[in-house]
Amino acid sequence: MSRSAGVEKILARPTVGAVLSGGWRAERPVVDASKCKLCGVCWLFCPDAAVEVSEAGVVIDYDFCKGCGICARECPFKAITMVSER
Ligand code: SF4
Ligand code: SF4
Repeated sequence: MSRSAGVEKILARPTVGAVLSGGWRAERPVVDASKCKLCGVCWLFCPDAAVEVSEAGVVIDYDFCKGCGICARECPFKAITMVSER
């Protein structure tokens, strides 16, 4: 199966010289695809542009996701859960 456009876009993002804010994270957002309606609200609110939404689903770039939880709070369908990494 080929990768989605969202995944390709995230993987193409340059990381050389970038601050990988994923290292700050204590919790990670996990998307429940069965609840997700692909509305794009998480993409809109993410302060680190770490979310991509495509027809294939939601992809979170954990190199840049700092675990702030805004996406989980703003998701109108409660499809995102913050899970401890510690
Ligand atoms: S805000 Fe929630 S329902 Fe909307 S795309 Fe993101 S995870 Fe899916
Ligand atoms: S937890 Fe914060 S940084 Fe990570 S994807 Fe959600 S809104 Fe973006």
